[in-house]
Amino acid sequence: MSGSFEHSLGRELESLRGQNLYRDLRRIDSPQSARVVQDGAEILNFSSNDYLGFANEPRLQEAARSASALFGAGAGASRLICGSLSIFHELEHALAAFKRTERAIVFSSGCSTALGVIPALAGRKDILIIDKLSHASIVDGARLSGATLRVFRHNDLNHLEEILRWANAKRCGPDARVVVATDSVFSMDGDLAPVREIVELKEKYGAALMLDEAHATGVIGAEGRGVADAEGVSAQVEIQMGTLGKALGSAGGYICGSRVLIEFLINRARSFVFSTAPVPAAAGAALAAIRLLQTTPGEERRTRLWSRIREFSAAVFPDDPEPPSAIIPLKIGAEDAAMTAARKLLEMGILLPAIRYPTVSRNRARLRIAFSAAHSSQDVQTLVEALRRTGLAPVKEPVAASATSA
Ligand SMILES: *Cc1c(COP(=O)(O)O)cnc(C)c1O
Repeated sequence: MSGSFEHSLGRELESLRGQNLYRDLRRIDSPQSARVVQDGAEILNFSSNDYLGFANEPRLQEAARSASALFGAGAGASRLICGSLSIFHELEHALAAFKRTERAIVFSSGCSTALGVIPALAGRKDILIIDKLSHASIVDGARLSGATLRVFRHNDLNHLEEILRWANAKRCGPDARVVVATDSVFSMDGDLAPVREIVELKEKYGAALMLDEAHATGVIGAEGRGVADAEGVSAQVEIQMGTLGKALGSAGGYICGSRVLIEFLINRARSFVFSTAPVPAAAGAALAAIRLLQTTPGEERRTRLWSRIREFSAAVFPDDPEPPSAIIPLKIGAEDAAMTAARKLLEMGILLPAIRYPTVSRNRARLRIAFSAAHSSQDVQTLVEALRRTGLAPVKEPVAASATSA
């Protein structure tokens, strides 16, 4: 019996290999930073979400150590039984103050946040409306919810309005909810959602908005408070989601919002209710990160990050406006071509793995560059040179050379 079980798994894996979609783990023998060690060699890393270099920051390490010393290695139970250690309360307090909301709640990851929160907020009688390119955790949360699901074309406000109008007509009863959910920075394209316009539309049609600021927190807006804050609409975003695992350099997910929203999630979000509380070390590190963000050294990290983004963009896309986020995709298309490009870059000592289906659509494979404050200008130059040598970035032509095109 188990022979045929293993056989069927093996056949699926073979099929993945045949489509250039097979994946395996890459063992890294160092902390996460601008450089990591793989197979005994130091390589330049442009694939991490550690935007501010916090993952290996001594202040966060120290905070993790002291949280472990004070609260132990594990929380021992779910928050609602006896695992609600004071470090989690402190972290939630700091997050709410940072995002300027009444209250916050933390989960063990961003993924489990979306998987628990979306089904809590939208059930069979409700309608969920999500952007086509929303993160997988939003898509899966929506599928789990049992709500009527509608997907609007990426960043297409007309399509969103059409669906909101339809939802308003279809909404059954005053308690039926219509919830719009989207990323604020799209994780594989690095573009921004038109947050201000989405807020206007959801207000017009009486819907609620869940905004996932996973790649914006720490990176965009004053003190890194995210896109909603930068656009001046955060008070109108009912459900503000994010992760503690990217710019904040630790692990966990969070929701910031009103007192009643958080009370509701504590009672209803199944990934919160039925899960052991996060490890104290992760909460301690995240708390240190939230504090560090709001200091001058935090500001300097963000300034450094944006300098690196601009240096790259000026060298490779001199005619384009400034990139909106720390993620710049080099779109390649075919999976095998993207993998070949990634292999060539690795031979030059640069870690930039190909992003393939199902993370992006089929034949939309890409190299997704993510910048960090831990990179130096020289690191960016090294990347630009390597991309030129592999034909992935345009070589700067002398100005006179383009005059022949007539
Ligand atoms: C990474 C990511 C998540 C998941 O967060 P984790 O803490 O890594 O589980 C959720 N949403 C978006 C948009 C993300 O990019």
